[in-house]
Amino acid sequence: MMATQPRATQHEGLSTMLEPVYAEVLRRNPGEPEFHQAVCEVLETLAPVLAARPEFIDAKLIERICEPERQIIFRVPWTDDSGTVHINRGFRVEFNSALGPFKGGLRFHPSVNLGIVKFLAFEQTFKNALTGMNIGGGKGGSDFDPKGRSDAEIMRFCQSFMTELYRHLGEHTDVPAGDIGVSSREIGFLFGQYRRITNRWEAGVLTGKGLDWGGSQARTQATGYGSVLFTAEMLKASGEDLHGQQVVVSGSGNVAIYSIEKAQQLGANVLTCSDSGGYVVDDKGIDIDLLKQVKENERGRVSDYAERRGSSARYVAGGSVWDVPCDVALPSATQNELDADAASTLVRNGVKAVAEGANMPTTPEGVRVFRQAGVAFGPGKAANAGGVATSALEMQQNAGREIWSFEQAEDRLAQIMRAIHDSCYRTAERYGAPGDYVAGANIAGFERVAEAMAAQGLI
Ligand code: GLU
Repeated sequence: MMATQPRATQHEGLSTMLEPVYAEVLRRNPGEPEFHQAVCEVLETLAPVLAARPEFIDAKLIERICEPERQIIFRVPWTDDSGTVHINRGFRVEFNSALGPFKGGLRFHPSVNLGIVKFLAFEQTFKNALTGMNIGGGKGGSDFDPKGRSDAEIMRFCQSFMTELYRHLGEHTDVPAGDIGVSSREIGFLFGQYRRITNRWEAGVLTGKGLDWGGSQARTQATGYGSVLFTAEMLKASGEDLHGQQVVVSGSGNVAIYSIEKAQQLGANVLTCSDSGGYVVDDKGIDIDLLKQVKENERGRVSDYAERRGSSARYVAGGSVWDVPCDVALPSATQNELDADAASTLVRNGVKAVAEGANMPTTPEGVRVFRQAGVAFGPGKAANAGGVATSALEMQQNAGREIWSFEQAEDRLAQIMRAIHDSCYRTAERYGAPGDYVAGANIAGFERVAEAMAAQGLI
């Protein structure tokens, strides 16, 4: 799916007390609409906590939480296979380390800029808090476009990127992982360069590593599996399950692929996947082995999938995957891919549950449509937290020099997703907004970070 153009975020629900805080965020971070959107969405839900905890206001906890601890921007020069020199820009926003080392992925995509990285790092702070583990929030990346690049070019880019970034990392300081455009191939090149520069085999400095060199079982699957497990928990709360449900998934990257796999394991029929060119509808249900072959092994397009799949699948160039009627929608591509019109179409077609596998894929207006229609809506910072939670399990294994089985890692992931669901559900109830997972996730994440910051003094 193409992300729709970000617009200035209108805020309907900011309390008068939080208006000036948001105004200051706008003033200090000009031209960063995604960051404004992410902050606004959290601030809109915090008034009840602040009413209950006035000490957070005196300590200026909200102002502090909206300001990153550190932001790093650097030059990344590299040469392509023909010897041409390219200059990209690298970023790492170390947003909040009250709960643990900065933790969050790296995104390589031409759309990456400081505002995008900042919004992702802000979201990550609350998401990581929701996992209940000791990880702070950070995010990084580059405007480098990996599309069509050879392995050798990817390697040279990753080596140049790490040659600057390494000095900011460490298992107790900052621990990156993958995101869009960064998978185990890139993590391998980054880890190799870190090891070479520092002369340390420091497994805990990156997560998403290969299984033979410190990676965790189930990390590859974790974000997608977790988002479906979260969906199953939301359905369970209203007496339903995934069996026999029609599911629409957007995207065809790591999150989408493993969401499709888990939804199918739980008996759902997954009809779609997509990329920036268009989407596929497969009446027999997506053939997950073929999709993995096309996307993971051949780095192809979903149109290639449709061509090879035969008569059950048709490819729609452009268009919106959200036009396909379904019971459950799993936006798993990128930010702002599901707007108010798409949300209205889904509601008209009878959608019961929506869970965000991607980070902030639903626009604020889209979220409003779902909430008003009473659709169970799992925001990304809760629904897609399984990836980073399993990264924390990888760090735990690295620290103890342990290697867990797939079953062990997947069991822990399932427990964590249940706990995140229950914490959002209970928190929403406690603050008078039963069934509102957006409020539940924001408040539960905020409370944990704010308590830690308050306890640690003015830093
Ligand atoms: N990029 C993933 C996310 O959005 C995972 C980050 C990690 O494992 O550190 O949560």
